[in-house]
Amino acid sequence: NQARQKIQEQADKINDANKILEQLAALDGLTGISNRRIFQEQLDLNIHLSSRDSTTLSMIMIDVDHFKSYNDTFGHTAGDDVLKQLAHILDQSARRTDIVARYGGEEFAIILPNTDKKGALCRGEKIQRAIAGATWAHRDITVSLGLASKSFTISAASQAEDQMLLFIKQADMALYRSKGTGRNRMTHHHDIPMG
Ligand code: GH3
Ligand code: MG
Ligand code: MG
Repeated sequence: NQARQKIQEQADKINDANKILEQLAALDGLTGISNRRIFQEQLDLNIHLSSRDSTTLSMIMIDVDHFKSYNDTFGHTAGDDVLKQLAHILDQSARRTDIVARYGGEEFAIILPNTDKKGALCRGEKIQRAIAGATWAHRDITVSLGLASKSFTISAASQAEDQMLLFIKQADMALYRSKGTGRNRMTHHHDIPMG
């Protein structure tokens, strides 16, 4: 009986440890904000909510301008500090219901539930103002933004993933346009001229 109790205690400990590991895996190690896995889970969830509640969902992709040169000039550790400070600024500018994530190396993404194009552009401006107003260690940091907004209609589960990938692609295309037209600016997918 005592042996059985010991085994149960060990099992409980392993369970607790696993829960902590699960939570850690949800967060980006450098910045402490959500990682890409959580971003994709939350985007999937919010696409379904947008469809169910007939609301518009927006997202913002953010990429640091000329970050390679920042690393090359001031070192990788200084670069890491910029990413941490940026994550903090984005987190501060977010609403409680927004999801702020590190999407990749020097790329961030924000999910804005129940937010239309106008609201998303407002948030993008707020982010740019906050970054322009911050004090940076070595030189001023600018970012380029890509925005997308959509009212989803999901009738089959299989549609959700395709629509998610398309939505991310639209924000990406808008970001690409911001880079191509000079950086330190934002573009909404709806405003990309047809080529
Ligand atoms: P652009 O304005 O076109 O975005 O130019 P860029 O230099 O920012 O873009 P590029 O893709 O050429 O370089 C991205 C750089 O980001 C290169 C890479 O070393 C750096 N980077 C990615 N992840 C990290 C990180 O975790 N820490 C640091 N310090 N640098 C990172
Ligand atoms: Mg990049
Ligand atoms: Mg970059």
